[in-house]
Amino acid sequence: MNRVFNFSAGPSMLPVPVLEKAASEMLCYGESGMSVMEMSHRSPDYEAIINDAEKMLRELMQIPDNYKVLFLQGGASTQFAAVPLNLIGRTGKADYVVSGQFSGKAFKEAQKMGYDVKCVATSKDDNFDHIPTFTKDMIREDAAYVHICFNNTIYGTKYPEIPDTGDIPLVADMSSCILSEPVDVSRFGVIYAGAQKNVAPAGVTIVIVREDLLEYADPKMPTMLEWKIMAENGSMYNTPPTYTIYIAKLVFEHLLATGGLAAKKAYNENKAALLYGYLDSQDYYIAPVKKESRSLMNVTFVTGDAELDKKFAKEAAAAGLKNLKGHRSVGGMRASIYNAMPTEGVEKLVAFMKEFAANNPKA
Ligand SMILES: *Cc1c(COP(=O)(O)O)cnc(C)c1O
Repeated sequence: MNRVFNFSAGPSMLPVPVLEKAASEMLCYGESGMSVMEMSHRSPDYEAIINDAEKMLRELMQIPDNYKVLFLQGGASTQFAAVPLNLIGRTGKADYVVSGQFSGKAFKEAQKMGYDVKCVATSKDDNFDHIPTFTKDMIREDAAYVHICFNNTIYGTKYPEIPDTGDIPLVADMSSCILSEPVDVSRFGVIYAGAQKNVAPAGVTIVIVREDLLEYADPKMPTMLEWKIMAENGSMYNTPPTYTIYIAKLVFEHLLATGGLAAKKAYNENKAALLYGYLDSQDYYIAPVKKESRSLMNVTFVTGDAELDKKFAKEAAAAGLKNLKGHRSVGGMRASIYNAMPTEGVEKLVAFMKEFAANNPKA
């Protein structure tokens, strides 16, 4: 077996001890005589798995008691519709910050449904190379919520701090940064995240929602999108993505056993510093993102020559450093260095970058 360093933006690497544990329990979970995949979601064994998953996530993220934790389907993209459907009833209008492709999609989805939504800030004119600044006074006083994407997976930018939206609930897509470092959940009305970047395989979306925000759903909304119904049914209004939630539980367990999110933050900051430190020390590669907006999880860079970029991704893959090609909409390179990417992977990447620069002088 020869595992590679997989820099994919998602689905992405999972911790080896988690995969090993899942493999050891594949045919028979505990005394159940069956795989978790084959289990009724109403069985006592499975009830314990999903309850533990929630308990561990609450402990890891220090989620206050007045927040519900939901395990839903449909990916983060389904929440682009679910967010307005659940919250717009508060005042009838909502504000969005567009800092990249996913926040743009979220904004468009709300617009498509005919709601009164406004983009209050964007960095589109600068090709999303930074997080746009926005202040409380730019938000409409009667906005039902303000939506942001906390870490922009494609462009490699992240909010340097949680924006202050006063009493207006802040809704954040954290798909590509959840569990990468501690975050003060109480500053948010809603946090949501697809699992396949930093939590589990694809198939489950985590929604963390403040209880008082469960009262504003459009009565005509699809049942499956209504957070309140999902909360009342312990995320089991229908069959949840049972196996994915089980893997998420193993990941939470692994994080708790290895020092929690404070330890992960230090680990991730060290990895990111290795890569950004190298990028800042030379001029062969260009890191397009403004320093104050740099992501801890997704690091973008280019050579400035599309052919060289292509060659880079190809040769890196041959050297066991996979999926470094940037998103199809922006080109260049992107190294996604989520929790499960070992420091060794980043060290190997930096060594490869040096070698490639030496072997491929620019004209
Ligand atoms: C990947 C990603 C999405 C899309 O997630 P799906 O689960 O594929 O719908 C949305 N937002 C962010 C920030 C992402 O990284």
